[in-house]
Amino acid sequence: MSVFVILMKSPSMHIFNFSFTATVARCYSKIGFVGLGNMGSHMAKNLLKKGYKLTVYDVNKSAVANLVEAGANNAPNAAEMSKDVEVVISMLPSNQHVLDVYTGENGTLSTARKNTLLIDSSTVDPSVSQTIALQARKHNLRFMDSPVSGGVNAAKDGTLTFMVGGSKADFDDAKSVLEVIGSRIVHCGDVGMGQAAKLCNNMLLAISMIGTAEAFNLGQKLGLDAKVLADIINSSSGRCWSSDLYNPVPGILPNIPSSRNYEGGFGTTLMVKDLGLVQSAATRTQAPIPLGSLAHQIYRAVIAQGFSTKDFSVVYQFLKGKN
Ligand code: NAD
Repeated sequence: MSVFVILMKSPSMHIFNFSFTATVARCYSKIGFVGLGNMGSHMAKNLLKKGYKLTVYDVNKSAVANLVEAGANNAPNAAEMSKDVEVVISMLPSNQHVLDVYTGENGTLSTARKNTLLIDSSTVDPSVSQTIALQARKHNLRFMDSPVSGGVNAAKDGTLTFMVGGSKADFDDAKSVLEVIGSRIVHCGDVGMGQAAKLCNNMLLAISMIGTAEAFNLGQKLGLDAKVLADIINSSSGRCWSSDLYNPVPGILPNIPSSRNYEGGFGTTLMVKDLGLVQSAATRTQAPIPLGSLAHQIYRAVIAQGFSTKDFSVVYQFLKGKN
């Protein structure tokens, strides 16, 4: 039997259609947000727009000022930020930043109230998420990893995909908040499995982009027109996301980084960071990743050749060389 229930507690009114046996997810209104960079600033602004009360923190003062102007309160450190909120969301560069913010001297775990839901959306090593989750449990706090796919534009449009690791009950609770800043929220398993999914995907993305760039470079050296080759590959067995929707050859597709001098998109430095995380996860689990390792080295060489500010599809120019 199914009923409609209207909950007035949440910042915006939610209507749920649920059965009598279902558990009702909690609704939150007070959020702490740390890491207001390229991604986090947009995510935080989208939460403000939906009526959430936000307290923010970032080591970068101008990033904080930008959010305060949009209506957020600011805090002097992560501990102060976490004192009086129901949910904490973090969007930080890498492992050590996330460890510092949660477990450091002025970290979230030192002050957050019992049962606070902690959601880390940074891309980090799954073992970092698992370490923090263990410590969080000792403080009666609930930690989940929730890395995203979709870049800055998806963060701006609120259309990110969240890959969530944590208990089903915590996932259900987190969903109402994540749905405000994302369009796809996927439960991947226990804590760390969101990061595992993200790293596997990005390893495959790096390999398939390099493969696509190799094939198109060879085709051109053999005298093939790149558009003809794209037409063939994209209706044949070589087709992949990199050939079809994000082709690395300039001029094949409009409005993607390769057609605007590889500006915007997903930078080579972020790809190298993710492949570094892949490498250590594979070493720890003894999973052979010959192509993943090679992709890591190739992207490091891409950066060494001066492409550090470019989108990762620039590997095509790296292979093509100057001629
Ligand atoms: P960014 O460097 O633009 O932003 C990170 C922010 O964290 C900065 O404002 C920085 O000042 C702040 N910060 C760093 N250390 C801090 C600390 N100890 N305390 C408080 N604030 C601190 O990074 P980004 O591009 O927004 O990416 C964030 C995360 O999202 C990364 O893990 C990245 O891999 C992942 N990601 C990024 C993209 C993308 O396209 N940019 C896409 C998917 C996932």
